[in-house]
Formats: sequence, C-alpha cells, structure tokens
Amino acid sequence: MKFNSPQQAFESVYGRPPVAVIQSPGRINLIGEHVDYLDGLVMPVAIDRHVHMAVSPGNGHTCRVWSALSGGEPVEISMDKLEPRPDSWLNYIIGVLALLRDRGTRLPTFDAVITSDLPTGAGLSSSAALETATALCMEALTGEEMTPVNRARLCQQAEHDFAGVPCGIMDQLAVGAGKAGHALQIDCRDLYMQLVPIPDDMAILVTDTRVKHSLGDGEYRKRREDCEKASDILGVDSLRDAALALVESGRDRLGDQLFRRARHAVSEIERVRQFNKALESSDTATIGKLMLASHQSLRNDFNVSCDELDILVEAAYDFGPERGLFGSRMTGGGFGGSTISLVRRDAAEELKQHLQSAFRKHFKHEVNPFITQAVDGAKIIEA
Ligand code: ADP
Ligand code: MG
Repeated sequence: MKFNSPQQAFESVYGRPPVAVIQSPGRINLIGEHVDYLDGLVMPVAIDRHVHMAVSPGNGHTCRVWSALSGGEPVEISMDKLEPRPDSWLNYIIGVLALLRDRGTRLPTFDAVITSDLPTGAGLSSSAALETATALCMEALTGEEMTPVNRARLCQQAEHDFAGVPCGIMDQLAVGAGKAGHALQIDCRDLYMQLVPIPDDMAILVTDTRVKHSLGDGEYRKRREDCEKASDILGVDSLRDAALALVESGRDRLGDQLFRRARHAVSEIERVRQFNKALESSDTATIGKLMLASHQSLRNDFNVSCDELDILVEAAYDFGPERGLFGSRMTGGGFGGSTISLVRRDAAEELKQHLQSAFRKHFKHEVNPFITQAVDGAKIIEA
C-alpha cells in the first residue's frame, strides 16, 4: 500500500491519529571510511531520504509496529521480552528499547508505523535511521530527552548487541546531528563536531549499486580485528595515533595484509584533514584527488570495494572535471552499497545518465542515481 504521509499510514493501520512523527535521515560519508572505529576523523552528511516513524501510546500490554517495507499485520513486541530475534528488522527497534529500559527509562507501550524513502542495505545507514527514530519516539512519549551524542551512543550499542554489527559511531551521529547545507566532521576520539559548509553549486549524486555481496558478511569485523592487531604490533592505542612513517617502518613486522590495512587507516584520516580544507576553499581539484585516493585505498589496501563500485567510480572520473565532476568514491562499509559523486549542480543530470549507461555496459541490472542534499539530523516533526 502507498501512503502520502506517515500520519496517513498510521491512521490507516490503527484507526486513530499518531501523537508524534519522527523524521530520521540517511547519511552518506564524503570521506573518512572505515576509520570511525579507529578513533579517526570522518565527514558524513545527513541526506534528504528519510525513515519516518509515527507513534502513539498503546492500548494494551504489548507494542505494535508496522513497517510499509514488510506490510501485513503489525508485529507485536512485549516489553517483558526485549530480546534479539533471528534475522529480524525488529532487532534495531528492540535493541533501542532494551537499552533505554536498562538505563532506567520507564517505557510506555506504543503503536508505531514506519515509512521510508531511504534504500535499505545500500550503505546509506537505514539501520541507524531506524534506531534513531525509535529513540526519538520514546523521547516524545516519555518527555525524557537525550543529547544527540548520548542518543547516538545508545543506538550504536543497539546495533552492536542486537544486530551483531560492531560499527563505529559515525552513522548514528550523522543521522542525529547533521545540519542542512553542511558536512559534519566528527572526531571519533572525543566526538568533537565541526560543521563544514557545502558550496551551493556542488550537488551530491548517490548511486546505489543494488548489490550486497555475501562476502561482506563478517568482513567488517575482520577489518576491525586486523586494525587492532596492527596497532598492537605498532605499539599504539589506536591507528589514530600512528603516523605513516611508523606504519612504513613496521612493514616487516606487520606483514603485507596488516601493513595495507594500517596504511589505509592512517592515510584516510590524513585525507579527511585535507578534504576539510579543500571543501572550505572550494578547491575542487584537490577534492577530486582525495576522493579518488580514498577509493583506491579502500579497494587496494582495505579490500572492501567490488566491481560494481569500481565501475561507477571509474565512469565518474571518465566523465571528468571538464564536464563538472568534482570527485567520486564508494561510501559506507563496501562490498556493494553506494557510490557518491560530487558534481557541479548543472551537470548532475548528465552525470546521472552517464553513470547509468556505463553501468549497463557491464551489469545486467539498472542503477538509478539520485541527487540529494544535506539536511538536518533526526527530529520530531509533529507532536
Ligand atoms: P544500511 O544501514 O546501510 O541500510 P543495514 O544492513 O545496516 O544497511 O540495515 C538495513 C536493515 O535495517 C534492513 O535489512 C532492515 O532490517 C532494517 N530497516 C531499515 N529501514 C527499515 C524500514 N523502513 N522498515 C523495516 N526495517 C528497516
Ligand atoms: Mg547500517
């Protein structure tokens, strides 16, 4: 069923209006990939694709949740039994509820409806958007507000404990603290955040490859473990503390694989610093070089790219700066998911078509790039 609004969906499912509606964006990451769990620097942007969650206090002893993605009848969650369920999308919600309960929040039962125009499993953090929306729903119902940082930490913990993904803090913080027109540089060590304006003539084009390679399962955790081993060998608390010279000097002790993992991490954090300056001065040539170097490092040193991502990035650089391309790279965890391209606004439509036709030459399915912009983080839009 298609609804015009989350309010309308709620009324149709439960026969009464919601008391609050939460709007929770997805995110892209301009640069700083696979370094949030290494105390590194990242540069995400909340985008104008959202998960919406409409909510009202419940009538009975159980909560009911309905998602337009799965349809059917609303599913029930008992507050006495907030435990992970095998392979269920409910885990993101149950996880947040369980952790709120554990920190002492008295949770009311509720009915909720979820609608979304954010692709799932596309590296655009629909999971963090869903967790954050759940936390904000509970804040709306209880009146107990959290700071964006505390909310992000709780949602990250839910992802660790209930979805089994040992993610860093970037996604949840980007979803919760993004600002319209800005990228959000986050120092993942102390969570210091800096807003960096995105130039007006710069459009963000997102291309979801619509593939998720099963190879990715468990690889995320392996990358984290590799980086931990590398920092042990190098004698630093985290790779944030390592300079490139230290990594180079430890090459023999690290061995090829750990050396490459560490080189990615250290060089990527440095690229974020340079990208910040380049964005502030609209130095698009440097932006393009840094994004390409980031992609190549993720592909060759961190081994998290795939053919679909590589073809799209290559096609974007073939389009070239003369026609308005600033830069392009994979975004998110990899093994599928999406690329982002920064492009002159008046050339975005042409680049979109160029990427579609380049992709068609290599793969059997279509991609449908969309132009997006930086928006505010998650918030209650109706209460
Ligand atoms: P990403 O966060 O990049 O989108 P993940 O695999 O981390 O990818 O999270 C995707 C999962 O989040 C989905 O498989 C689903 O379980 C859950 N999810 C996201 N949005 C929704 C939604 N609107 N309704 C139900 N489940 C959702
Ligand atoms: Mg996710």
